[in-house]
Amino acid sequence: MHFEFCILNSAFKYDLLVVGAGLYGAVVAYRAHKAGKRVLVIDRRSHTGGNCYCEENKGIFVHKYGAHIFHTSNKEVWDFVNQFVEFKPFIHSPLANYKGEIYPLPFNLNTFDALWGVKSAEEAKAKIEEQRLHIDHEPANLEEQALSLVGKDIFEKLIKGYTEKQWGRSCEELPAWIIRRLPLRFERNNNYFNDTYQGIPVGGYNPLIEGLLEGVEVRLDTDYFDHREEFDAMAEKVLYTGELDRFYNYRFGKLEYRSLRFEEEQLSQKDFQGAAVVNYTDRETPFTRIIEHKHFEDRGMDHTVITREYPMEWSEGAEPYYPINDERNTALYAKYRALADAETKYLFGGRLADYKYYDMHQVIEKALKSF
Ligand code: FAD
Ligand code: UDP
Repeated sequence: MHFEFCILNSAFKYDLLVVGAGLYGAVVAYRAHKAGKRVLVIDRRSHTGGNCYCEENKGIFVHKYGAHIFHTSNKEVWDFVNQFVEFKPFIHSPLANYKGEIYPLPFNLNTFDALWGVKSAEEAKAKIEEQRLHIDHEPANLEEQALSLVGKDIFEKLIKGYTEKQWGRSCEELPAWIIRRLPLRFERNNNYFNDTYQGIPVGGYNPLIEGLLEGVEVRLDTDYFDHREEFDAMAEKVLYTGELDRFYNYRFGKLEYRSLRFEEEQLSQKDFQGAAVVNYTDRETPFTRIIEHKHFEDRGMDHTVITREYPMEWSEGAEPYYPINDERNTALYAKYRALADAETKYLFGGRLADYKYYDMHQVIEKALKSF
């Protein structure tokens, strides 16, 4: 979707209203403001930054909505974010804890060694070959995809429990591509991402968002739907980055989302788990992961802050963190999308309006392209 402004209509106070001060809204607002447009950004939350928002706890930058690691292979996106904040090099290497057994992630020779004691790629491949599912069609779901790629042991210890907790659905009901987000390597390399550039912004993500929104009028604690007509009358164009089904008053039915509950704890010890993220991959532990925020940017503090992440089903009033891109929701979303595509005043973008499992770099790329 491309933004085009007509001749300035003086009936409007703003050229562009941006609903949502997340990364997508902030990047478009930045571009529009730089182009001389009169921009107003609103957000229903009491802060900007959407899910990237961080809060300082005595020298530790707490990722309030889950661990956020920036990674991209797009140099334009990398250069763009580096204008606003310095990035500390960071290689994300989470661990899996399965009933007390610790395994390096993503699935690589270190994982296979810890599981089976294999020391070479050939031995690891042979072990997987013994137990992998052989299919003669495209994997129909996440379970088939995982079993055919990595075999039974890894599926049962590292994938099944975690995935079913995370999504609240069985692996047979989930799309195969979700598991393909994770690299599979036969060398010893615990880097969770394959991208060229990876880092954590020094001082958290807030300086990035503040840089993007510098000079732009922002109103917080403001839900678009509480004053929809008034807001529409204020601006020539409206960029909406919230849930698309809500925009259309759920007229075709509700899309499903996965929500999360974050339980944060400050501990008076220097270190809790020695790593930024530990995934609990068994089915019984009710949370999926523990984040220890100081490992993103260690300033030598004597205390530490951890967050346990509990997945939960989304219901109205909760935050919709993850779209559930299964068949039913994909078909339902297409109906809303057709309405959105026909709009002229309204523009849509971001993880919620596009109903896509975007990472930050993808959101920025889309936003830069759109303006
Ligand atoms: P959001 O950040 O959701 O922003 C949308 C904003 O719109 C919100 O602030 C919301 O309050 C506001 N809004 C919605 N409706 C209304 C309304 N009616 N009125 C006013 N305001 C409204 N990406 C990575 O690259 N690396 C990671 O490691 C990573 N980890 C993640 C971990 C978790 C737990 C989650 C949930 C996401 C993670 N992401 C990660 C993805 C990243 O958060 C998103 O790609 C990015 O934040 C999306 O930006 P956005 O602007 O599209 O959406
Ligand atoms: N996954 C898993 N075990 C893990 C980590 C991830 O089975 O230890 C699966 C799970 O289905 C998850 C998907 O891989 O939803 C993608 O993982 P990613 O870390 O990209 O998820 P995110 O950080 O976006 O929640």
